[in-house]
Amino acid sequence: MKKIKKSLSHIDSVDFSNLPFGKIFTDHMVIAHYSKKAWGDSKIVPYGPIPLLPSISALHYGQEVFEGMKAFLNRSGDALLFRPDAHYARFNRSLERLDMPNIPQKLFNEAIEKLIKKDSKWLKRASQLYLRPFIFATTPYLGVAPSEDYILVVLACPTGPYYTKPLHVKIETEYSRSAPGGVGFAKVAGNYAASLLPTRRAKEKGFDQLIWTDAATHTKIEESGTMNIMCVIGGRLITPKLSNTILAGITRDSILTLAQENNIVVEERDLLVKELVEALGKNDVDELFGAGTAATIISMESVEYNGKKYTLPKPSERSVSTLLYKQIEAIKRGEQKDTHDWVRKIKLS
Ligand SMILES: *Cc1c(COP(=O)(O)O)cnc(C)c1O
Repeated sequence: MKKIKKSLSHIDSVDFSNLPFGKIFTDHMVIAHYSKKAWGDSKIVPYGPIPLLPSISALHYGQEVFEGMKAFLNRSGDALLFRPDAHYARFNRSLERLDMPNIPQKLFNEAIEKLIKKDSKWLKRASQLYLRPFIFATTPYLGVAPSEDYILVVLACPTGPYYTKPLHVKIETEYSRSAPGGVGFAKVAGNYAASLLPTRRAKEKGFDQLIWTDAATHTKIEESGTMNIMCVIGGRLITPKLSNTILAGITRDSILTLAQENNIVVEERDLLVKELVEALGKNDVDELFGAGTAATIISMESVEYNGKKYTLPKPSERSVSTLLYKQIEAIKRGEQKDTHDWVRKIKLS
């Protein structure tokens, strides 16, 4: 009699037509260990619990750094990674700021490619995988000191086309996301913990997200939630210039590059709250949106500042973000020429 091979995959229990962001994980994960000043090899293991001591320093002093990147399925059934080298470089910049060891490029690349290949059936069903590499401190020690041991884990989540409703946002002038000289430019866990309370308070008042302003004066626009922010005024694409209080988004960089190629004037500079609010008051702001890996571009439909609400044109009337969204999405899927070497192909058998 033929033996029935039992599949341990939970892929058939997943509703791919309705994928929530970040709640479903593929069958496997990658793990690698750092100790005695060196990284070991990465290995594929089933997605599941990791035994850890309660004294590991990540849990007490927050040495944790992460990345968020995507792989797409192209028409010939291979995986396309979007800007893995830029994510790798930023991963190391974040690690350095928390006094954590850099990760070798070979380890990073191999870990990600291994996971995509191992769980390729998930990519084929979902069309996109969101990849979450992260590193945290594992020395069991309660002294405030850099850990001597770390773990790298890479997780993958199936994600579908990301449709979003335009956001109602509020310009935040009380709480701050990041301070000069701090860790705002780094993708470190603590930044997000600090944003939860102010964001929940805004949500309770009916807003979807906050626009963060500079910590010292609350007069300059910085970011929105976990996205960079951009606006179009008089045909010019304006975004706050990078500093150590702003996270250097790879979506941001890609959008600005494509905008320039489309002969759209790009201004990376201070964007004052006053300037934005005055332009909103005169209906001069044609587009306002957030930019990040999860959704690429999310339009904002209203902005509140000091109790006054300003409404923006409908997303369907926004030519700049519509054009740039289409182009970047096409490049990610291999449907538009990749003139910048942004996409890395991983052959899937
Ligand atoms: C990840 C992130 C972004 C967007 O970066 P991408 O590389 O485009 O995904 C922007 N701001 C913050 C705070 C982030 O964590």
